Amino acid sequence: MAEYVEQTFVAIKPDAVKRGLVGEIISTFEDAGFKIQGMKMVQATDQLLEQHYEEHVDKPFYEGLAEYMQQGPIVAIVLEGVHAAENVRKIVGDTSAKDAHPSTIRGKYGHMSMEHADEEGRHYKNIIHASEPGEQEKEISIWFEEDELHEYVHTGEEEVR
Ligand code: UDP
Ligand code: MG
Repeated sequence: MAEYVEQTFVAIKPDAVKRGLVGEIISTFEDAGFKIQGMKMVQATDQLLEQHYEEHVDKPFYEGLAEYMQQGPIVAIVLEGVHAAENVRKIVGDTSAKDAHPSTIRGKYGHMSMEHADEEGRHYKNIIHASEPGEQEKEISIWFEEDELHEYVHTGEEEVR
């Protein structure tokens, strides 16, 4: 694999699955030329989430986050592309929909602020997760077995990259 071509992990969160945004979100990544290497629906468990959100487990928002992430299935996806982690985070947008640019996934499909969610005692729902650069290999190995990642030639490898 060329030096800058890498895989990254994306999870379409339960709120977006329930809102019927799965197709639109996948299209956004396909339109940008990313190659889908793995994809499945998963019901997250406490154990998977504790591994996935290892750096957040001790934070005050963790319990609510774990509850939110188990409100329905997620769609787990592995994408491959150039600087994939950084580029996918750019398309996903800021953590808070209030701050996310409207051209990003979080900004396009939401507008809530964390402050408002806290004030109302609501879960902070923000549609999608994407690995931070450096975290993707760990996250892919939590959610996928090796034989669930598929090798094929995507036209983006010739036309987009
Ligand atoms: N989160 C939250 N309250 C906070 C901070 C984070 O509910 O004050 C949730 C939110 O769903 C976020 C996730 O925890 O997406 C992980 O937080 P992080 O800061 O890593 O943001 P991300 O990497 O998802 O943009
Ligand atoms: Mg994060």
